[in-house]
Amino acid sequence: MKYIGAHVSTSGGVENAPVNAHQIGAKAFGLFTRNQKRWFSKPLEEKNIIAFKKNCEKYGFEPFQILPHDSYLINLGHPEKEALKKSRTAFLDEMQRCEQLGLDRLNFHPGSHLKLTDEESCLKTIAESVNMTLDKTKGVIAVIENTAGQGTNLGHTFEQIRFIIDHIHDKERIGVCIDTAHAYSAGYDIKSEEGFANTFARFDEIIGFDFLKGMHLNDSKKEFASRVDRHDLIGKGTLGSEVFTRIMKDPRFDNIPMILETPDENMWAEEILFLYSVAK
Ligand SMILES: [Zn+2]
Ligand SMILES: [Zn+2]
Repeated sequence: MKYIGAHVSTSGGVENAPVNAHQIGAKAFGLFTRNQKRWFSKPLEEKNIIAFKKNCEKYGFEPFQILPHDSYLINLGHPEKEALKKSRTAFLDEMQRCEQLGLDRLNFHPGSHLKLTDEESCLKTIAESVNMTLDKTKGVIAVIENTAGQGTNLGHTFEQIRFIIDHIHDKERIGVCIDTAHAYSAGYDIKSEEGFANTFARFDEIIGFDFLKGMHLNDSKKEFASRVDRHDLIGKGTLGSEVFTRIMKDPRFDNIPMILETPDENMWAEEILFLYSVAK
């Protein structure tokens, strides 16, 4: 079964996310559990945690249908010591918030080398950051999101993601989220039927579908292999709607949260409806 939703607002409290998701007909949702543009956020309060769990139960959202996203500031591969420490502290806080909310996965962007180190040492630093965090937490899977490869962002190839996974001690607690717009911008031709088949055969070979713990469903404003990350509405961008129909009909993408991060929240209900209509 497909679980489709969107990255919803937590304005007024984290407990509003499941309500917002329910209102757009979602069966999955993404959220930030803290202000994604700031380094420090006050801890979650007990009353918010209780209300969040209550609303998830009320609207039928189980942990496997929810994909929280970490802050954009975090760089787990930062080549500089102090900055890396700051990122690791924030990431630990993100994981602990997921623990508190009873969530089982956290989506993160791997990191950037900032031209201060080489790719391999940056990937090793990322893996080390994740290992340190997993050691201090329980029950939450760290989910690596593939990137568009903009600037010095790593994680734009399946091989880089596999390299990180290979360096994670607890393989039960590492996963992957594929963002369709990022994949296309990074140079994976998922648009054509043949390209789609090849890309996901390669994904299965290099990483493996067992690691797939979520999807981000976005069209792209940028052309193929542009290495630029700009999301567009489903079917309105350079990808077009066919790839989403293909994903919806493919059982390899069953039973994971599939999250829209498309630019117009007023369109989410319609986009979700479209995706469910082609899922049959
Ligand atoms: Zn992301
Ligand atoms: Zn994404």
